[in-house]
Amino acid sequence: MGINAPRSKKLLIALLVAVLAAAGIFLILTQKEYSLDFMAMDTYDSVKVSGIEGKAAAEKAREITENLDVNVLSRHSEKSLIYALNRDGRAEIPAEYGQYFSTMIDACSESGGAFDFTLGKISDLWGIGTDNERVPEEDEIKAALDKSGADKTGYDGGTFTVPEGLSVDMGAAGKGIALDEIRKAYSSMSVRRAVVSLGGSILLYGKGDFTVGIQTPGGSGYMAVLNLKQCCVSTSGSYERYFEKDGVRYHHILDPETGYPADSGLVSVTVVSDSGTLSDILSTACFVLGLENGKALCEKFGCEAVFIDSENTVHVTDGIKDKLEITDDTYRLEESR
Ligand code: AMP
Ligand code: MG
Repeated sequence: MGINAPRSKKLLIALLVAVLAAAGIFLILTQKEYSLDFMAMDTYDSVKVSGIEGKAAAEKAREITENLDVNVLSRHSEKSLIYALNRDGRAEIPAEYGQYFSTMIDACSESGGAFDFTLGKISDLWGIGTDNERVPEEDEIKAALDKSGADKTGYDGGTFTVPEGLSVDMGAAGKGIALDEIRKAYSSMSVRRAVVSLGGSILLYGKGDFTVGIQTPGGSGYMAVLNLKQCCVSTSGSYERYFEKDGVRYHHILDPETGYPADSGLVSVTVVSDSGTLSDILSTACFVLGLENGKALCEKFGCEAVFIDSENTVHVTDGIKDKLEITDDTYRLEESR
């Protein structure tokens, strides 16, 4: 007994050291942040992720985004589902993506057509962000508008159909769809926290608080921050893609009623939702609808939003007011009415 006591004490200390070392290694592995930057979906994308599978999770986000872009959503990629749909007039939508298409159709009708995923031909006419930017002739726009409209498409939960000459364009929903697919993948991986940013759409994943900046419209840096728990955040703004001709600015968010860039008095809309698809769709729809109708649409879908108008006034839905901090004093929050 007398001989064994110091020995067992030593053993205990060794065990304690081993446990502490293991805990330390575990902590390092879970806290270490992996970053990855890439280009897909026609925009700059970045991932920051921590967790035991952090490295694999960062790669997974890239893989999911690139695959969705090239093989499913891009209307320019000859390998994609949407390319085949536009070419053949019909395509089978895999069951795993069915919900996204249903959400898009629903958002089209709930927004009174302000969100319209059939504007590919009109976007092509404007060519914004390409080498072919130009102001189209009115009769070209009218002809393209006549061929567009989500009401001309059909979806029975399996087959999607479009008439000849209509071009489905997933530009306003694709990044959000990718975020939802990434979140799904992360839920079965060992991911502690992640921030996945695909252009103007961001997934905040994991426990605790996140701070997200709202870009200064037309400037660099941020004009405000949002303090949020895990969710998705999408911003649509007229400063993102545009060209100028004869002193007039033409941007990439189109009013489906006119075929011209939307002119609702807003320069930026940020939507917060649990769903990436909805946040992406609604930020575009709200930009077209303008402040009052945009607020009503967000309420319908249970989402929160921050609107910035061309006078630098910031408007918010009620549920997000205390989560917003304006950091640039050239912007001011609208007085409550
Ligand atoms: P976002 O940057 O998410 O607002 O999406 C803008 C992109 O969606 C544009 O570059 C077009 O490809 C497409 N788009 C433009 N206007 C609309 C609209 N009213 N509804 C749906 N998609 C649109
Ligand atoms: Mg969008």
